Amino acid sequence: MTVYADNAATTRCGKAALNAMLPFFHKEFGNPSSLHSYGQKASAALQTARESVARSLGASPQEIYFTGSGSESDNQAIRSAALTGAKKNKRHLITSAIEHHAVLHTLNQLKREGFEVTILPVDKDGLVTPEQVADAIRMDSALVTIMTANNEVGTIEPVAEIAKVCKEKGVIFHTDAVQAAGHIPLDIKTLGADMLSLSGHKLHGPKGVGVLWCRKGVPLLSLINGGGQERMRRAGTENIPGIVGLAVALEEAVAELNEVGARLTVLRDKLIAGLSQIERSRLNGHPTKRLPGNVNFCFEGIEGESLLLLLDQKGVCASSGSACTSGSLDPSHVLLALGLPHEIAHGSLRLSFSRETTEAEIDHILSVAPPVVNYLRSISPVWESIQATRRS
Ligand SMILES: *Cc1c(COP(=O)(O)O)cnc(C)c1O
Repeated sequence: MTVYADNAATTRCGKAALNAMLPFFHKEFGNPSSLHSYGQKASAALQTARESVARSLGASPQEIYFTGSGSESDNQAIRSAALTGAKKNKRHLITSAIEHHAVLHTLNQLKREGFEVTILPVDKDGLVTPEQVADAIRMDSALVTIMTANNEVGTIEPVAEIAKVCKEKGVIFHTDAVQAAGHIPLDIKTLGADMLSLSGHKLHGPKGVGVLWCRKGVPLLSLINGGGQERMRRAGTENIPGIVGLAVALEEAVAELNEVGARLTVLRDKLIAGLSQIERSRLNGHPTKRLPGNVNFCFEGIEGESLLLLLDQKGVCASSGSACTSGSLDPSHVLLALGLPHEIAHGSLRLSFSRETTEAEIDHILSVAPPVVNYLRSISPVWESIQATRRS
């Protein structure tokens, strides 16, 4: 049995999305900017996809911009709000310590360009409070960007309340909803944010396509100059197959969200209960304000990389921390922000699930993970010294 438990890194493109995309690679290959019939067909598909995405989010089609990834959407939202603010001498930006690197590294770059960045700490479960945001906002704040749900530990942030605070204080609020869209209920109208990012491949759509929703009236600058695509906000011939696939995937994910969410929550909690039985284990992230498909654990005395390799041999594809940082030896910035010491932040295991996950797969993980942890501890000098300390 091979269990794919790394859906926070990417998901399998669904059949409906794939079938919707296929004609646009070959038969309907037109450029939407062309005036002839091929162009018109591509342009109609683009318009249909835009309307579909708007419907799925509770937004209007004029507020939807297609981009090349979730990362690009984050970059554009943040850079646009910062540069717009700077024109009014507002050069202060606010975020949290557990954002995705697409957000944190963009803010670092803006810092080098003369902006000031406040990084809000999170509590032990990964939560940011609306009060923290209210206290951080100043007269010269141009943007608050806080993620809807965290990609490593699954914590769901109180973004509607944070949006309310930002609105009262007149500051633009952007949220990275890449892990949330299509996974938890998300209605743009009730959310009250100004900008929101999502990505196709995190919700059973294709890779290399994202959405930036930008509320009507909020200025949006382009990152890429060239043609007039996306109403002058994103030059470059549109990725029609990708856009069509994303729209279908999002529609499908939203339609089955409640059912899948309820089923995954049961499976998630079964796995959490089982892994909690392992001595000196710790669940990372909030116990209940948590994505239905996310489980993240630390096991004292063992290292994340070796755990992943052995689990892979037993047919479990998981991840430690975020896919973008594995391969590097840096501990996860998210786990460090939760207050975990360095040596423990190295040893985390993230298991992330999707609508394809079955109970038999959860049972398989529960049967192989505890022996693997025990084996690694039996050969771990760190575990040996932990045991010695406890005995003395
Ligand atoms: C995956 C992810 C991104 C980046 O999306 P890409 O489409 O892979 O660039 C951004 N933010 C979060 C929270 C993510 O999980």
